[in-house]
Amino acid sequence: MTELGRRGFVLGAAGTLLLAGCVPTAHPTGSPSASVGPPDWAALRSAVTGSLLLPSSQGFAVAKLTENPRFDAAEPLAILQVASAADVGAALAFARTYRLPVALRAGGHNYVGWSAGGAAGSGVPASFVISTAALDTIAFSADASSVVVGAGATLAAVYDAVGSRGRAIAGGSCATVGITGLTLGGGVGVLVRSFGLACDQLTEIELVTADGVVHTANTTSDSDLFWASRGGGGGILGVVTKLTFATRPAPTVTEWHYAFPFASAAAVVGTWQKWAPTSDPRNWSTLKLLGGLAKHPDGPSVGVSGTWTGPAADLATQLAPLLAGLPAPLAHSSVTRSYRDSMLDYAGCLGLPMSECTTGPGGKLVRESSSGTSSIGYTALDGGGISALLAQVQAAQAVAGIREGGISMDALGGQVATVAGDATAFPHRSALWTVQYTGTFPDGADPGPIDAYVRGFRAAMTPHWGDHAYVNYPDASLADPGTAYWGDNLPRLDSIKKKYDPAGFFTQPQSY
Ligand SMILES: Cc1cc2nc3c(=O)[nH]c(=O)nc-3n(C[C@H](O)[C@H](O)[C@H](O)COP(=O)(O)OP(=O)(O)OC[C@H]3O[C@@H](n4cnc5c(N)ncnc54)[C@H](O)[C@@H]3O)c2cc1C
Repeated sequence: MTELGRRGFVLGAAGTLLLAGCVPTAHPTGSPSASVGPPDWAALRSAVTGSLLLPSSQGFAVAKLTENPRFDAAEPLAILQVASAADVGAALAFARTYRLPVALRAGGHNYVGWSAGGAAGSGVPASFVISTAALDTIAFSADASSVVVGAGATLAAVYDAVGSRGRAIAGGSCATVGITGLTLGGGVGVLVRSFGLACDQLTEIELVTADGVVHTANTTSDSDLFWASRGGGGGILGVVTKLTFATRPAPTVTEWHYAFPFASAAAVVGTWQKWAPTSDPRNWSTLKLLGGLAKHPDGPSVGVSGTWTGPAADLATQLAPLLAGLPAPLAHSSVTRSYRDSMLDYAGCLGLPMSECTTGPGGKLVRESSSGTSSIGYTALDGGGISALLAQVQAAQAVAGIREGGISMDALGGQVATVAGDATAFPHRSALWTVQYTGTFPDGADPGPIDAYVRGFRAAMTPHWGDHAYVNYPDASLADPGTAYWGDNLPRLDSIKKKYDPAGFFTQPQSY
């Protein structure tokens, strides 16, 4: 554990450095205190090497945008794009001094707008956004068996760098998702049954706590913080500045896909759910049922797709038990790629220069407004559960303003289940699949009906799957989010929060 100065520091109103112990460390109030005056942003700017943007600054209007356009109207107080852990310490001290609420941002994909720093309905007030997006360096050990990733790196950048060295780690499938938010919540993706969760490959994390202390957490140092950083979620314990992952030799990846008519959806769900979580761990699959008139005017689609990291020639044998129980598909395909190319294919960036694999300036990717929530399936659906599911998919055809909506069931099991439920903060080790309920809609449209649709879908499935949820797909409407996200691991997370953030400086909604 190192410190930013022995006791940390804060900036005084005139920009002078004060010892942290000399100023109040009260819970942020959301508005500047009369006793300290308005925030002296000029003093902060001169104390950091990163870029500080105020609402009046050129570039602020673009910098404030997250990856979900529904939160574009957010008006954060300021955005600091930190250049180092020392910048983070200065930013936290400044926020303490002026009692500013902070919001943390890396990739900017939070479902409910927490990282936007003041989006309507997010439960986060207009905040000082501390962004680690500029910390995007990726560095390897000599043999590339280990990679140190800056907290601003996106998944596509990590896949490109790691894959180009003939190595692999497993994360999610969206190019611009931040490795930081993804890993802190667990991290499921198309290689999750072969490799485990993203957080299972994490070996060390650097994190700055509210008092400005820089922690290097691993299994032997600050091990409780390391435990909590593997599934405990982002924005709660401190600001992550870098992450170290163990890499593995890159496999080839055979991507496969089958489409079925909606009329046979019940048979597809029934067969897939028996096969997917128990198949060879090198096989991962997802079942997607998607509707919405705009994209599916002829009725909802049913697709089963996946990845196979064993020898390509063995795919047919692997899929035989699945296909034996299914009607004839409408279409199917398979293609074998290198790990790097497959990950970039999933990310929508295969063939693009990496500079264009972004939704930012010069990028070819497009942001899309969306709503989402989740369940965790611990049991297979019976006939009633399958009927409830199909009725909800069909209901998407009548949702006002929806572009596409429905459900993805993403298989777990394999390596995920080889880790005990209390070995990391991610509790859902024995679950069969994660479930995403999603809805997309045109930018600027009323999100209300889409939120109601995905939440109604979840409510319809809760009698079958219970109230479990995945913290990386947060939902502001959950009645008991702590139990839903963390189950039996919640009490330990509570005590770690009290140890590392005793004043409750980080006030993100649904925190422990
Ligand atoms: C289009 C899309 C695709 C997705 N695909 C997958 C997938 O395949 N697999 C999967 O598991 N999840 C997936 N997710 C969910 C994703 O993992 C979470 O939304 C994740 O939290 C995003 O991280 P981020 O850094 O991009 O987002 P942010 O919004 O920047 O941050 C997410 C959370 O982490 C906090 N945080 C941000 N930076 C830091 C920091 N430096 N230190 C500490 N806390 C911080 C934020 O306050 C917030 O609570 C997807 C989400 C979207 C929108």
